[in-house]
Amino acid sequence: MSGEANPFESLQEQVDDAAAYLDVSGDVLERLKHPERVLELNLSVDLDDGSVGRFRAFRSEFNGDRGPYKGGIRYHPGVSRDEVKALSGWMVYKCAVVDIPYGGGKGGIDVDPAEYSAAELERITRSFAEELRPFIGEDTDIPAPDVNTGQREMNWIKDTYETLENTTEPGVVTGKSLESGGSEGRVEATGRSTMLTAREAFDYLGKEMEGADVAVQGYGNAGHIAAYLLEDLGADVVAVSDSSGAIYHEHGFDTRDVKEHKNETGSVTGYGGADEQFSNEDLLTFDVDLLVPAALENAVDGDLARDVRADVVVEAANGPLTPDADDVLTERDVAVFPDILANAGGVTVSYFEWVQNRQRFYWSEERVNDELETQIVSAFEDLIDCYEALDVPNFRTAAYVVAIQRVVDAYMDNGNWP
Ligand code: NAD
Repeated sequence: MSGEANPFESLQEQVDDAAAYLDVSGDVLERLKHPERVLELNLSVDLDDGSVGRFRAFRSEFNGDRGPYKGGIRYHPGVSRDEVKALSGWMVYKCAVVDIPYGGGKGGIDVDPAEYSAAELERITRSFAEELRPFIGEDTDIPAPDVNTGQREMNWIKDTYETLENTTEPGVVTGKSLESGGSEGRVEATGRSTMLTAREAFDYLGKEMEGADVAVQGYGNAGHIAAYLLEDLGADVVAVSDSSGAIYHEHGFDTRDVKEHKNETGSVTGYGGADEQFSNEDLLTFDVDLLVPAALENAVDGDLARDVRADVVVEAANGPLTPDADDVLTERDVAVFPDILANAGGVTVSYFEWVQNRQRFYWSEERVNDELETQIVSAFEDLIDCYEALDVPNFRTAAYVVAIQRVVDAYMDNGNWP
């Protein structure tokens, strides 16, 4: 996020924009624009060569009015206090829009994991977990994976916490491996909520998914699963891309075959069934019915948005449109369904993982997928009700209005402890 607008200021602007449609006092609104608590750490960790590495690490607990703080931990060079504060705020509104009983948090370490051995990363992670121990717990603050962290890191955090606390408490983190208390369906959940949001959006807009042309930017965890599931609904996934470029096939790809090719060669480009190869930017402006940005933030800016020809955009990535792009697409009547709903499958199935951990009773993949569908469809309906009832400019603002209202209601009902 470096070099872009300050993400924390963007978050505060989004809250202000949505608040214009809500009856919320200025004091209460101000609470929703600042984290309750930010922990900043300076970790000292023994490295393999005998030296000591120092790493800045953060955990922001933004708002706990609706439940324990919830959100991922990212390992990335340049992770900053403001970035983590903003991401923790977005988690508050993501959890609220899908109505799961969590607040929002986020953490990160300023580290490039590619530069360290697995043993060093384990020591870095366990050092962070030890420092986090007084703050985290299944009823207080529940970390999860984010950029460059996954099941391995979550298993280490869980083990460190459980060892120091002399307990078994798998619900202290989510996104664990199945053997360590993870949930069926967790890995696919983000792509699945993207598909469900697209399906509901097409239905609402009176568009046919069968035979619709779809372009998916980014063929990683979120993108390739969304592509599989949209193809299963009868859509033609005519274009996909990754960091090496884009491919196009006018009759649509066999999306699983493309993934096989990517697994073998490291990229989607060069796939045999493609008509032609294109740049990443070309893909974003193809004449398709649905565009799914599933790569990184700020993929579409205001200039590029003028050339987007998709009728509908469903955001699998976090923040793939800049605020300028959002304004342009709203003006051009392109229907954009926001990240806080479309990629909320990950945190929703994290919630299911936590419920299973607490009950020590594990669900089938079918049950996980059914419960996820219920949650996303219900959130979509709430968003549409808000969009139709208030004269909001787009579906993103509707999502924030729904989410902020839920947080404000919880705060007002709880009362204030002076
Ligand atoms: P990933 O690393 O598995 O995949 C990212 C993909 O994007 C890769 O295929 C990469 O090659 C591609 N890519 C990078 N730069 C690109 C570019 N300029 N053009 C085209 N493709 C490019 O990551 P992911 O887990 O799939 O996450 C993708 C997005 O979804 C991120 O914004 C992430 O925050 C968001 N998200 C993911 C989850 C999840 O559960 N995985 C949950 C919520 C949100």
